Amino acid sequence: MQTKLWRLTNKNLPEELAEAAELIKAGQLVAFPTETVYGLGANGLDGEACKKIFAAKGRPVDNPLILHISKIEEIYPLTSGLTDHAKKLAAAFWPGPMTLIVHKSALIPEVVTAGLDTVAVRMPSNKVANTLIALSGCPIAAPSANKSGRPSPTRAEDVLADMDGNIAGVIDGGACDIGVESTIVDTTEKVATILRPGGITLEMLQKVLG
Ligand code: AMP
Ligand code: MG
Repeated sequence: MQTKLWRLTNKNLPEELAEAAELIKAGQLVAFPTETVYGLGANGLDGEACKKIFAAKGRPVDNPLILHISKIEEIYPLTSGLTDHAKKLAAAFWPGPMTLIVHKSALIPEVVTAGLDTVAVRMPSNKVANTLIALSGCPIAAPSANKSGRPSPTRAEDVLADMDGNIAGVIDGGACDIGVESTIVDTTEKVATILRPGGITLEMLQKVLG
């Protein structure tokens, strides 16, 4: 397959991202920049599309995906209910480099959560990511856009080095600001727990939750 490359001028993002959003809607894979690293995106409500992520990355199927949303209220159809600390953390740190583990709803395909009854959700602050999600009209499932075992890409060239010819397209939005993964916080129990350290620190979380 020929991998498309969109070099953004950022003059008219909705127009520049329209073709990429159509490909996401059509069940294809598109890599895009976020503030942490480049993600390899697919329609997060389309199980067949999400399976392509695992194939392209060589990712073990027992490693669940993070769903990316563009507005806080988009989490509600994805979850069977949020704890108070989930609501507080979302209000404090979204959009930004924090992923929340929440109880999943029946909408989420099995392949996204690797069979778990919880799902990982994040709202990125990167404008390109945010606009792409909004235009696609669905949550975008996206792990880092590298082959499994290789470093997470922070530039479009890094993505192409691993994925050229295997995915529908790459959106070149320049280098990522943060360059480290999102902090993952499990909010499904009484006490919130950090599952993976990242862009948001323990101290920042403690300030909000007390
Ligand atoms: P990546 O997108 O490559 O940064 O990987 C996402 C990571 O999120 C996975 O490797 C898991 O460690 C974590 N994750 C995703 N969904 C869940 C979940 N439901 N429960 C716990 N951890 C999760
Ligand atoms: Mg990764």
